[in-house]
Amino acid sequence: MTRRDLAAASRHPGGLPLTQRAVRLSGLPPGARILDIGCGDGASVRLLRQLGFDAVGIDERAEGLPYASGEFDCVLMECVLSVLDDPEAALREARRVLTPRGTFILSDVCAADAEEELRRLLEASGFSVKIEEDHTAALVTYAAERGFAAGRAAGYALFIGETIDPLAQWLARKIGSSTPLEAFQTEQLRETLHLAAAHSRFYRQSLGHQGFSGDTARQILARLPFSYPEQLRADPLAFLCVPPSEASRVVTLGTSGTTGAPKRIYFSADELEDTVDFFDYGMRNIAQPNGRAMIFMRGAGVPDGVCDTLTRGLSRFGCEGISFGEITGDADDARRALLESKADCAVGIASQMMKIAALGGEQPRLKTVLLSADNIPAQTIRALEDAWGCEVFSHFGMTETCFGGAVDCRCHSGMHIREPDMIFEIIDPVTGAQLPDGERGEIVLTTLTRRCMPLIRYRTGDISRILTGECPCGCTLKRLDHVEGHA
Ligand SMILES: [Zn+2]
Repeated sequence: MTRRDLAAASRHPGGLPLTQRAVRLSGLPPGARILDIGCGDGASVRLLRQLGFDAVGIDERAEGLPYASGEFDCVLMECVLSVLDDPEAALREARRVLTPRGTFILSDVCAADAEEELRRLLEASGFSVKIEEDHTAALVTYAAERGFAAGRAAGYALFIGETIDPLAQWLARKIGSSTPLEAFQTEQLRETLHLAAAHSRFYRQSLGHQGFSGDTARQILARLPFSYPEQLRADPLAFLCVPPSEASRVVTLGTSGTTGAPKRIYFSADELEDTVDFFDYGMRNIAQPNGRAMIFMRGAGVPDGVCDTLTRGLSRFGCEGISFGEITGDADDARRALLESKADCAVGIASQMMKIAALGGEQPRLKTVLLSADNIPAQTIRALEDAWGCEVFSHFGMTETCFGGAVDCRCHSGMHIREPDMIFEIIDPVTGAQLPDGERGEIVLTTLTRRCMPLIRYRTGDISRILTGECPCGCTLKRLDHVEGHA
């Protein structure tokens, strides 16, 4: 076909030459799986197949695509977003069916001064825009050939971008795009240390009034003493930097072992909000907008507890959280609740989720499961994937981390740590020396943004390691390997 024929065969401004240009610019490899949303008579799909791509098209259901998550390397939307009733839902769906760092190609009509607005909508929907081109001339030609006026204010733009992991989005929002994470952590740490040394009885004694020397947060921490769960248990008020009345909530952990006294942890409203915000972004990989997530964690109905904060995080992107609570007795109640609620996501403790899967009878139809516990055996993950045909994610957190600590992305290659809010050091549990990334040891927690009751070099007793290298999802937050229980 000649260039003119190509243009005529397509029903969008710029025609097939623009489609061809866009896929060339995007650098997609041969054989890449491409979904054309709003494919019309399929001209673009036929072209893409001729070009050696594995292309399919769909002309409806843009707001609820009948494809699995991560099924496509590229989504193409030509002159279709502007005519949809709910463009935001369509973009969320496009993002869902794309692989991590999948390519998104959009060309559409937009008023000359609305191009910036469209770019912001794409960014808010989880895409980073790499290429932006003006093709208004193509719109004018297209309109003239069909005998209508394009309108003076109308323009036509091409955007090529890729999906950003929600946690990378969260990180950029938390610290800004120009601040390096390490510099942010060091500054937050110094602030925490000065505050703690000045206002908390415990830290005044343990930290004293030293200058906290060192260039990086790691170096500063290496010179400081550890704190232990026993100390927290013995005198929780000593850790407070504010009067108890200013802490909006007290979480009391259940007694474990023979030590008797429970641990009390205090959080302010702002600190709980930080956790809700982390859950909001961390759960976007796991639960769906308009979906339902059933939560099998402790403290259902407790205000500001883990079920409540998780439910609030989910609601921020339109997912309904339903708190069931821990499975203490018969797992059959939990199984029936899952079936009745039609939940597509479950959050719970590995061993308790296994109890449901081990039951006979009808099994829940879950797309995703998030396991949260200090020990998640690899065989449990495989067993649940087999039993339910679902994708299994892992989370590490404890009350001391204000519930949220580290969570899997769609690559399932380690849990991204909540680094703007906390530092996990890995130490040799015997000598106390810091270990380099890649080596297993005890996780030591230091909070960075908690002003109410900071924890500084707190010995968690859990064993893991920080993974080296970069995650394929593109998020630069460090990753924690699976946690192996207590030191
Ligand atoms: Zn990742």
